[in-house]
Amino acid sequence: MSDNKIPLAGVIGSPIAHSRSPRLHGYWLKKYGIAGHYIPMDIAPSDLAEAVQTLPRLGFVGINVTIPHKEAMLGLADIVTDRAALIGAANTIIFRKDGKVHADNTDGYGFIQNLVEGAPGWSASKGPAAVLGAGGAARAIVSSLLEAGAPEVRLSNRTRARADALRKDFGAKVNVFDWVKAGEMMEGCATVVNTTSLGMTGKPELKVSLDYVSSDAVVTDLVYTPLQTDFLSRAAEKGCTTVDGLGMLIHQATPGFERWFGQKPEIDDDLREILLAE
Ligand code: NAP
Repeated sequence: MSDNKIPLAGVIGSPIAHSRSPRLHGYWLKKYGIAGHYIPMDIAPSDLAEAVQTLPRLGFVGINVTIPHKEAMLGLADIVTDRAALIGAANTIIFRKDGKVHADNTDGYGFIQNLVEGAPGWSASKGPAAVLGAGGAARAIVSSLLEAGAPEVRLSNRTRARADALRKDFGAKVNVFDWVKAGEMMEGCATVVNTTSLGMTGKPELKVSLDYVSSDAVVTDLVYTPLQTDFLSRAAEKGCTTVDGLGMLIHQATPGFERWFGQKPEIDDDLREILLAE
C-alpha cells in the first residue's frame, strides 16, 4: 500500500455481528482524530487464506481474528510470536510493509493488564493461581499467569481431558483438579479466575463454592455480560478484591491499535460505557 492511503483495520470471524471490537477501535479512531477505519468482516473458513492475501492489497494494515479462525490463522502467518505459538491461536495480525504477515496473541497481555490496573498491588508471583475452565481462553490465561511469575497454576474443568491437555502443553507448574474439587483447589490461592462461559447472560450460573477462597485473593471473571457476575458478587461478599472482564477485552485491543494506527490508546470510563450499551 502507498503511504498516503487511509489505513484500514478490522475483525474477521463468522459470525461477526456480535463483536464489540468495531465499537472499541471506532471510539479510539474518533477520539484521536485518526483518518482510518475498522471494519467487521464475516469470512467463511474456506475464504480465510484468500482474505489474508487480499486484505493488505486493499489497504489493510492489520486485523483482529476471532472464532473460528484463531487457530487456522497461525498456519497462514509468516511470523508467529512465541506466545501465539504456545497458546495455539492468534488474535492480532499485522500486515507488514515488507509483505510478511505477523501473528500475535494479546489475550494474555489484556488479562494481566486488567488485573494490574484493577487490583493495585496484585502480582502473579504472590501465590498459586486457580483457573476454572480449560477452553480456548484458558490457554492464554494459563500461559500469561506462568509468564508473569505464578509459582503454580491449579486448573479445573468439567471435561478433565481438556485440563490434562493444558498441563501437557504448559508443564509441571500446572496441576489439574477434578471439577468436583474446583472449590477446594482455591485454598491458599492469590489469584482466582473464571474462564468458563458460566455466569454469562443466558447461561447457567457458575456454582463452584468459594468457601476455601482467602479474602486476600484477587478474583476475576472473563465474562463481562453481566459486568458483575454472581461469581464476582460472591467473592466480593467474602472480602476479596474483584476485577470484571471488560478491562481484558479493552486491554487486549491496545497493542493492535497502536501498531496499526501509531497511537497508544488510553482507556477511559466513556469507553467502558459505550461497550456495555446494548
Ligand atoms: P470455550 O473454548 O467454548 O470454553 C468454554 C469453557 O466453559 C470450557 O472450559 C467449558 O468446559 C466450560 N463450560 C461451558 N459450559 C459449562 C457447564 N455447563 N459446566 C461447566 N463448564 C462449562 O470458550 P472460551 O473462548 O474459552 O471463552 C470462555 C469465556 O470467556 C466466554 O464467556 C467468553 O466470552 C469469555 N472471554 C472473555 C474475554 C475477555 O476479553 N473478557 C476474552 C476471551 C473469552 P468443557 O471443556 O467441559 O466444555
